[in-house]
This record gives sequence, C-alpha cells and structure tokens, in this order.
Amino acid sequence: MALQFDLVVIGSGPGGYVAAIRAAQLGLKVGVVERESLGGICLNWGCIPTKALLKTAQVYEYLQHAQDYGLTVKEAGFDFEAVIKRSRGVADGMSKGINFLFKKNKIETVMGTGKLLAPGKVEVTRADGTKETVEAKSIILATGTRARQLPNLPIDDKKIIGYRKAMTPDNLPKRMVVVGSGAIGVEFAYFYRTMGTEVTIVEYMPRIVPVEDEEVSRQMEKSYKKLGINILTSAEVTKVDTSGAGCNVFIKTAKGEQQIACDVVLSAVGVQTNLENIGLEELGIKTEKGRIVVDNFYQTNVPGIFAIGDIVPGPALAHVASAEGIICVEKITGHNPEPLNYQNIPGCTYAQPEIASVGFTEAEARAKGYDVRVGKFPFSASGKAAAAGVKDGFVKVIFDKKYGEWLGAHMIGANVTEMIAEVVVARKLETTGHEIIKSVHPHPTMSEAIMEATAAAYDEVIHL
Ligand SMILES: Cc1cc2nc3c(=O)[nH]c(=O)nc-3n(C[C@H](O)[C@H](O)[C@H](O)COP(=O)(O)OP(=O)(O)OC[C@H]3O[C@@H](n4cnc5c(N)ncnc54)[C@H](O)[C@@H]3O)c2cc1C
Repeated sequence: MALQFDLVVIGSGPGGYVAAIRAAQLGLKVGVVERESLGGICLNWGCIPTKALLKTAQVYEYLQHAQDYGLTVKEAGFDFEAVIKRSRGVADGMSKGINFLFKKNKIETVMGTGKLLAPGKVEVTRADGTKETVEAKSIILATGTRARQLPNLPIDDKKIIGYRKAMTPDNLPKRMVVVGSGAIGVEFAYFYRTMGTEVTIVEYMPRIVPVEDEEVSRQMEKSYKKLGINILTSAEVTKVDTSGAGCNVFIKTAKGEQQIACDVVLSAVGVQTNLENIGLEELGIKTEKGRIVVDNFYQTNVPGIFAIGDIVPGPALAHVASAEGIICVEKITGHNPEPLNYQNIPGCTYAQPEIASVGFTEAEARAKGYDVRVGKFPFSASGKAAAAGVKDGFVKVIFDKKYGEWLGAHMIGANVTEMIAEVVVARKLETTGHEIIKSVHPHPTMSEAIMEATAAAYDEVIHL
C-alpha cells in the first residue's frame, strides 16, 4: 500500500522544510522525502556550520587583538579538532530541531531518494535499496544544489576540495588557494586566514565579491589585504598539478602565467542544481539553464507538481527558498499570496567585515536611467563603531531623485548583516528617505549609519 498524503515535498532544506511546516499549519497531511539529513545544505553544510566557524575565527581574532581593548591574554591558541567539532555540533543541533518541528506539526519523514513516477506519485528508494511509493495530490520538488565542478578543478576532496571538506578538514592547511570570491569563497578565506593559513584568492572577474557595489568590493579588498590575504583578480586557474606533495596552481593573469604552490585548493565557483534522476525528463517538466521553469506561484508546466528553492530561477539563498515554499503552499491551499518581489531580496556575506546589500548597485541604477541621489556614511564617523573598535566600512544608499524611491543599499562593516533588514522593510513599505531621516534611531548603534547615509543623500547629514 502506498503512503498517502495531501502534499509530498522532496528535499528538506529551507525550501522544503518550511513549505512542509506551513502546509501542515494550513491543514494538509504532509510527507517529506529526504535522502541525507533534515535541514538540507543550509543547516548541515551551508549557512549554519559556516557561521559557527566564522564566529570561532572572529573570537580568535579578538583574542589576538585583546591589547587594543586594554586586555591581556597570555596566549591565544586553539584546538582545531574542537573548532570543527563545535561547528558540526551546531549543525546537528539545528537538524534535530527540524525533526522536532516535523513531529510537532505531524509531518512524516520518509528517508530515501525520491523520484517522480507520475503526477501524484513518488517512488522512494531507501538506503538499503528497498522501494516504496508515496502518493499525494500535490508534490513540491526542493532538491537544492551541490558544489559546481570546473573541468580544470576536479574536486577530489583531498587536494582540491569543495565546501563540505572545507568545513570538515583533517587539519589546518599551511597554504590554501581559494578559487572564486563570492560569499562562500570570501567566508572560507577569512576563516582560514584568521586561523593562520596563508590564503590566496583567485577571482576571474576584475574585483572580489563581484556582484556587490564597486565601492564595497574596493573596501573588502583593502580589509582582506590588511588581514594578509593575497588577492589575484582578472585571473583564471588553468590547471592544478596535484602530482607532488602539495598542489601547484597555474594561473593566467593579465601579466602572464603565474604558479602558486599550496597544500590545498578550495573550489568555490558556485553551485549546480540537483535535477538528475528525479523524473523530470520522464514527466516532461520544463527546465531552462539548469533550473526548473515555474510560474509566480512555483507551479511547473505539469499540474500538481511544484518546484522551489535553489532549483528554480532567482538567487540561491536560504531565505529565498523559504519564502518561495510559503507562497507555494499558500497558493496550493487556496489562499491568495502575493508573488515574491525578487528586487527586494537581501544578500549577505558573513566574513569580517560583513557585507549586506539589497536592490540596485549605483552602477545598475545609473545604467537603468535613474537620476540618483547617493549618500554614504563611513563607520569611522560612528560613535558605536569607535567604541567597539570596528571603524572599517560604510553604509551607502541610493535613492531615485524624481520620486524618492529607495533603489538600493550597500553596507560593509561589523553587524551590517543584521542592519540590512531595516532597508528591506522600508523598501517593502515604499518608504522614502525623508521617513528614514525622521525615524529616530537609537544611539549609539551601527544602525544610525543608515539614517546618516540617507541624510547625506539629502544633504542633511549631521556627523560628517
Ligand atoms: C557553504 C555554503 C554557505 C551558505 N551560506 C548561506 C548563507 O549564509 N545564507 C543563505 O541565505 N544561503 C547560504 N547558502 C545557500 C543555501 O544553503 C541554499 O540557498 C539553501 O540551502 C537552498 O535551500 P533548498 O531548500 O533549495 O535546498 P537544499 O538546502 O540544498 O536542500 C535540498 C535537500 O534535498 C535533498 N535531496 C536532493 N535530492 C533528493 C532526492 N532525489 N530525494 C530526496 N532528497 C533529496 C538533499 O539531500 C537536501 O537535503 C550557503 C550555501 C553553501 C554551500
């Protein structure tokens, strides 16, 4: 007898598990098929364990600069195994939390690999090879992604590693080359450099964190050079020779070919969707550029089959996957959800300094023909930043001169990943700069910099 549900979700990442819980709240009988661990990449191999490692690095950096705060620390040191163990413990705890939430919401977990057999029918293959069929009126695909592999950079998990091994290394490497300077690359670069590894970042584009505003990239490069990270931009890894004791990395740059010797290469060149062997071709589900094609409410071209998260177009971020999951099940249950506004999605990088942004960069806004008002407030002028000893970085805001629309905000510095939510809410409420300037921000806080940057855009800044 097949297991019967109203909704089956394949994949329990932040897309799948959030969709499942919301559906259960709305009265559906829900089953979730998962082949690995509850919580997906985010909780087990992404957002959460990396932030645990980054916190360790930050605390270690503070200890090394204790004298800046008038403190004496005899010798700051670490037990690397314990550092990794802490990160794994945090991830495991979060994954167990999903198990608890599923029980609370009467959601059934079916452990195994799911494959669509027909609309309304999923085959699940368990680890021991046995199979069972699960039936439901609606099916949501939320199978997520894995590390992208480049032909010149085949991941062997020994000398050329991906993010999973970078989170669970056997020991701390002496020298590491990080290929790619998106969020994942720069976060690991900060972690390893702070723990003592010699780190070189190789970035194909002309600047690191290339999707961010140009001024943010420049500040990040300055901060990373101060940390002792070697940066090569407009540079391409053509080959990695792993035949010797370590690795020899061949890099093509504008100045010619260069070779860097290191112990390990981290490939951080993006992610690739898990779309293979889930029955897409058999059912004729449309894909485009490696993602499943869906409408505004995540319905695929096959009625009753939906897709959310990293496998559909849009930024591959946990909060996006969760928002899509909620909209999808609200629509399935006959509610009237608002489609997601992909222009108002915050993006964050959790290295030190942190980066947070939402909306257009200054260059994008100008290219779209907006007459812009730009305001910038450096943390060097912030009382809280001075007191906390974190004066690097700034808040930059971009408004449309004609109607006052808040087009974008870009921040780099301590705590900015917490601050960006203010901008997201303000933009959602179609707030103008005037209302931000007149909203009293608490003093002393880093968030005052948002009010001050906005005031700078309108020539009303006080503390500059
Ligand atoms: C190192 C790293 C750091 C990151 N940090 C952040 C961050 O700080 N903030 C942020 O917003 N995002 C971050 N991300 C991205 C974030 O993890 C993803 O956007 C998010 O996990 C996507 O959620 P999802 O539900 O689409 O899929 P996933 O989280 O990838 O989950 C998919 C699940 O489906 C399961 N699965 C796949 N195929 C099958 C099948 N056939 N049958 C059964 N189960 C299956 C997988 O085992 C997995 O558990 C990070 C990613 C990485 C790699």
